[in-house]
Amino acid sequence: MKLFEFQGKELFKEYGIPIQSGRLLTSPEESLEALTPPMVIKSQVLTGGRGKAGGIKIWEGNDDLHGIVDRMFKLSIKGEQVNAVLALNSVDILKELYIAITFNKSDSTCVLIAGASGGVDIEKHALDDEQTMSVIPFNSLLGLSEYQIRMAAKTLSIDDYATFRSIVLGMYGIFKDYDAVLVEINPLAVTPDGLVAIDSKIEIDSQSYFRNEGKIRRFADEVFQLTGTDVFAAVEDTITYVPLSGNIGLVSDGAGTGMLTVDLVTQFGGTIANFCELGGITNEEIVYKALTKAAAGEGVEKMLVVLIGGFNRMDHMAEGIVKFSKENTKKIPLYIRMCGTLEDVGRRIMQEHHISIYENLHDAVKSAVEAEMEK
Ligand code: GDP
Ligand code: MG
Repeated sequence: MKLFEFQGKELFKEYGIPIQSGRLLTSPEESLEALTPPMVIKSQVLTGGRGKAGGIKIWEGNDDLHGIVDRMFKLSIKGEQVNAVLALNSVDILKELYIAITFNKSDSTCVLIAGASGGVDIEKHALDDEQTMSVIPFNSLLGLSEYQIRMAAKTLSIDDYATFRSIVLGMYGIFKDYDAVLVEINPLAVTPDGLVAIDSKIEIDSQSYFRNEGKIRRFADEVFQLTGTDVFAAVEDTITYVPLSGNIGLVSDGAGTGMLTVDLVTQFGGTIANFCELGGITNEEIVYKALTKAAAGEGVEKMLVVLIGGFNRMDHMAEGIVKFSKENTKKIPLYIRMCGTLEDVGRRIMQEHHISIYENLHDAVKSAVEAEMEK
């Protein structure tokens, strides 16, 4: 989930990162009485490059603020309609820097990136020979060390190290606490009053919603109000569902495991009613949703649940199955095979709820195929 600039800056404020003061406008009709120039009027969209698309205007006081705000609400930037506008007290910018914390996917490390020429042309600058840039890998468990922050400060020729250090640690705090994949400030401005985060770009890992939902619900609600996208619903879409014509519903936590099970079912003479695959790293809620989805399928008389835990934790899987079992109104019998990560905890949870597990895949499939449906 990408956060709007105004949302990212709420987090910046919470984590002690200096920002401009201002107000969020959610309609062109809002009273602008209290606003005094100079202000920067910024369209709130999730895409980058607003400055170049006319989505950022400085109001010096000469022209009509209502007109600027009105026009901004009518803008559509890269297909995104502007439904909120941030009005901030403009600051004088002496220098624009770039700073970000993100992942380097090619070698699976976290990186702190510092560029001495930030701003709207960062992509171009990044390729310039004269751009001074540092990409500093760090260990996600150890976090950022003092020397690494000092390396970034050196690249950026920072005078006020103490403030810079607290900005970087604030960014790292957000990165860690919110399972972000990107926390970026571009530009981080050097102003006559010190460093100020002019822009914010934060992206939260969609695989982490299950453990952050409490914290990010308010942001997701705002994203929904302003864009109509339900970020949590988008996660459910990782469940692959293929309707077929048999009578056994199949839920597996991997496509390969699922295909293998389909082959075995066919070998034993059974037929599959639907194929439901969880997709990637999952949690209790997704297992529960997949089971509900599979059970609701046409012609489902019994269900095979085949879970082989690598990244997936069997305690989470078990909780999802227990939740489904409590609501299993159609009383569809479940044939479950679970093994792998935290299997013992998963088994204990299932035992406590009197749900049996098959010791191997063959037995589970054979029993499911041969079982007569209780009428
Ligand atoms: P982006 O184009 O979506 O990345 O939006 P930014 O928030 O980064 O703003 C784009 C550019 O507008 C910045 O690089 C600045 O040059 C300029 N800008 C933004 N806010 C201010 C401000 O308060 N004062 C001044 N002087 N320029 C600003
Ligand atoms: Mg920017």
